[in-house]
Order: sequence, then C-alpha cells, then structure tokens
Amino acid sequence: MKKEKISIIVPCYNEEESLPIFYKEITKIAEEMKKVQFEFIFINDGSKDNTLNIIKDLRKKDDRVRFISFSRNFGKEGGMYAGLEYATGDFVAIMDADMQDPPSMIKEMYRSIKEEGYDCVALCSPKHKDYGLIRKIFTKFWYKLIGKISSTPQVPGAREFRLMKRKVVDAIINMKEYNRYSKGLFSFVGFNTKWIQYEAPERIAGKSKFNFWKLFRYALEGILAFSTTPLVISAIVGIILCLISFIVILVIVIKTLVFGDPVSGWPSLACLIIFMGGLQLFFFGIMGMYMSKLYLEVKKRPIYIVSETEKTEE
Ligand code: UDP
Ligand code: MG
Repeated sequence: MKKEKISIIVPCYNEEESLPIFYKEITKIAEEMKKVQFEFIFINDGSKDNTLNIIKDLRKKDDRVRFISFSRNFGKEGGMYAGLEYATGDFVAIMDADMQDPPSMIKEMYRSIKEEGYDCVALCSPKHKDYGLIRKIFTKFWYKLIGKISSTPQVPGAREFRLMKRKVVDAIINMKEYNRYSKGLFSFVGFNTKWIQYEAPERIAGKSKFNFWKLFRYALEGILAFSTTPLVISAIVGIILCLISFIVILVIVIKTLVFGDPVSGWPSLACLIIFMGGLQLFFFGIMGMYMSKLYLEVKKRPIYIVSETEKTEE
C-alpha cells in the first residue's frame, strides 16, 4: 500500500540561523513517524541573508526537501499560499521556521486526524508570554472586537500552525483573494477542527519580523477582510446625527417664534462644524479603506512571483 504523505510548509524570511535547527528537528520527527512519508517545502520569501543557499544545500542531500524562492519579499501570507498550492501531500502542515511551532507536535496532530476523525488540528497559544504589555492589551481588545463584529469566529491566540486534510487545503486554495488573512480563511472554510492549547516557546534565533506597526496593519487587515460592521456603524451614526440636528432645528425655530429669542452663538456653531467635518472625514476614511482593498482585489495582481524552485535548479 502506498504510504500517506505529509507536506510541511515553512515560510522563511531571513531564517539562516533557525533553519538548520528546524530541519534537524523535523527530520527527527519524520524518522519516528515511519508509517508516513514527508515532503518539506521551504518558501524563501525574498530573504536577504543566506537562507536560500541553506535551503539549496538541504535539497542537495535530501530529496524530500522542495523549495520556492520568491522574486522579492511578499509576506508570510503569500508564502503560505504558495506552499499550499505547491504541496502534494495527503495532509499539509504550516509551520514557522523559528521553532515556535514545535515539530514534535506533528505526531499528536496526525494521530488526532487519523484516530479521532478530525479534518484539521490547529494550535493556539493564548498566553502570549513573549508579548509586551501594550501588545497584550491590543491583542485582547482585538479578539473581543472581531468576535462582536464578524460572523467568522476567531480563536484567541490561534497560530497558523495546523495540520489539514487535503480537502481542507483544496478549499483554502480555492479562495484566491489578494488581501489574504489566513487565520480568518481557515476559520471561514469550516470543517471539523480540533484545537490544542500550548504555550509557544520563544523564537530559537533571529528576530521576529513583525513589529508593532506591522501587526497593527495585520489586525486591521483581519477586520477589513472579515467584517463590514464599520461601514454599518458609520451609516447608523450618520442617521443618529441627522435626527439630532432635526430636533435641534425644531427647538431653535420654536424658541425664535415663541420667545422671539434672536439666534446667537457662533462658537457653538464653529464647534459643530469642526465636529461634523471630522466625523465625515473619519467615516470617509473607513469607506476608503474598504475601497482600497476592493481596488487591489480588482487589479488581480499575483499573490507571489516565483524566481526559482527545485525544478528550475535541476
Ligand atoms: N515570514 C515570512 N515572510 C515575512 C515575514 C515572516 O515568510 O515577510 C516567516 C518567518 O520566516 C517565520 C514566520 O513567517 O518562519 C513567522 O515569522 P516571525 O517568527 O517573525 O513572526 P512571529 O512569530 O513573531 O509572529
Ligand atoms: Mg515566530
């Protein structure tokens, strides 16, 4: 009987220090799981260090190693998508190269799929030990917010580390949107998913590629991709303000007619104009953000561009 295959996708951006350690660990696990065969797909996401050469060296000594090298840095989302398209396994896992997603967990994940009948096993690490206070507060607030304004559930602390059956992978590949927010897409496709909680260890070497600003933009991406509530809120606020202004007009007219009160008070008028101007710009901004996503989506630019793969090498 043909052995089942697990594809491991590893997006790599400047991971020269972590990669050899990761490779050693994952091959150790592959040794232990004799009943399955493996392929390791490394995505070199425009690294500026020696990452690509390290991957090529691994390929030379191990033909389970495959790789895609991008023409520039496209971001982890592009890397994951390319990996999913490229993978040939019956099961596919996405893992970070920095050992924050421990390779040893693959065994338990595979067992859950095979024995407990899940379609997908995903990991979450809600504690965020390595986050600073501000990042922790923002993260907590974000999960609360998205839970309220989106119909696609988001598990707090969800990582991209997961093992999926082929049918789940195919469903994800079928969503070819340009503005990708994978954690949301994974949740959107559904399927029977088991969540395992663990405490993500610190990165083994190198630095995190996500600073506060990048994460903020990523969080915004999640909201824009999976909720249209901000648009609804701006419409509702607009209606409420119209009603208020209507009442105020009535009050002023009646006051003038009944009490003969001359209409005065330009400071309050100035404040109102500034307030309304600000509010309008704010809501235009929200609309603009959705429009900009639409604009990028309509252009249908590729999610990644390949410079070389193991096939072009040989
Ligand atoms: N990564 C990538 N492209 C990028 C940024 C990151 O492929 O533009 C990869 C990176 O090499 C790592 C994974 O995505 O394997 C997670 O990145 P990182 O550890 O920096 O993120 P964190 O764990 O701090 O959220
Ligand atoms: Mg990391």
